[in-house]
Amino acid sequence: MLTKQSTYNSFTTISVVDYLKQQKYIHENSLVECEEIGDGNLNYVFRVKETETGRTLIVKQALPYAKVVGESWPLTLDRARIEGESLKLAAKFVPELVPGVYGTDDVAAATVMEDLSAYTLLRKGLIEGERYPNLAEHIGRFIAHTLFHTSDFGLEPSEKKVLATKFVNPELCKITEDLVFTDPFFDHETNEFPEELLPEVEALWNDDELKLEAAKLKQLFLTKSEALIHGDLHTGSIFVTRDSSKVIDPEFGFFGPIGFDVGAFFANLILNHLSQEARIEDEVKRDSFQDYLIQVIVETWEVFTAEFTKLWVENGKGPFIKVAGYLDYVLRQILQDAVGFAGNKIIRRTIGLAKVEDINGIEDKEKRLEVQRRALKTGRHLIVNRSQVSTVQNLIQLVKGD
Ligand code: ADP
Ligand code: MG
Repeated sequence: MLTKQSTYNSFTTISVVDYLKQQKYIHENSLVECEEIGDGNLNYVFRVKETETGRTLIVKQALPYAKVVGESWPLTLDRARIEGESLKLAAKFVPELVPGVYGTDDVAAATVMEDLSAYTLLRKGLIEGERYPNLAEHIGRFIAHTLFHTSDFGLEPSEKKVLATKFVNPELCKITEDLVFTDPFFDHETNEFPEELLPEVEALWNDDELKLEAAKLKQLFLTKSEALIHGDLHTGSIFVTRDSSKVIDPEFGFFGPIGFDVGAFFANLILNHLSQEARIEDEVKRDSFQDYLIQVIVETWEVFTAEFTKLWVENGKGPFIKVAGYLDYVLRQILQDAVGFAGNKIIRRTIGLAKVEDINGIEDKEKRLEVQRRALKTGRHLIVNRSQVSTVQNLIQLVKGD
């Protein structure tokens, strides 16, 4: 057994190399190059390259505070353990859809993993109008397998409860509870939006119909411990090439509603869809790319339901699994939850803390405001109408404003 760090120290580009040599990830005599490449808000990401062989490694280390805010916002290091454990568990079900994990260290709050520098972040690719023909198949399969196998449909309820004790994640959940489910619906200091949007935002704060539904969605997030969710499945947490996709960064993982992961992915596709209104000038090209995004949502849902159904039929647990109508009921609940959560995510990314580059990067301010106004309308539309959704086509109708 190797000795791990006995106390936590945040790494530097020098100390992380010493650590990798001491832990035998890299030969002690190797010449190495190291840089910190993290563009994230909460952690360090080091890329380490052995000069002679060209072999590379990534070390992701949690900081005891949120990097974006500074040391004034302390944040548990335990999220690194949750991220490492979650990636390793996902690798049991869909190894080709997560980075290889070479090792984890709870004291150093670090995960040593496969370097995916040859991949592109999906958000960046979509902003540039790139298409990924297998994306829907990959993400549909990812969510079906990771969520089914950690739910009461795939595990004995007692096994699931024991597993859930390893993924108790109150501090990261609080970030979501506040920034996604609460603050945008009130005049809260974390909100950030241009003053031109104030009339729309005030209307939202005074919208009792919307706020009642927002309260119900927050309650779902707080109480629906369905499966081990990723917890932050946006397009910046997915690395892609034309042929391959890898889901990273499950530090927000906990036992929550299945629809939250589904909805997060849909929301980010919808945000990109909205942003293309101001990005692609040529109408034919724009329509075509927006149709592609809609197709990804539809196909992801179809793959998810097909895979989930297969797992249910082959491995479903409990005496009710074969009861006619039960699977359909479960899938419809997941879809309705996903539609509502997608609405939360869209509103949050428009007026709450932490924006998306898809919309924020639109240079023309008037066009950007127009997209932001449409985003608020779309988010509201999804939240208040979710209970009428029973097929993915109903969701698409809501996205299109019908
Ligand atoms: P955070 O939780 O701080 O947002 P992420 O896991 O999203 O951290 O990583 C931040 C950035 O670091 C990513 O956007 C990506 O650019 C880079 N990165 C993370 N993991 C890898 C990896 N396995 N291979 C290559 N780059 C990575
Ligand atoms: Mg993160």
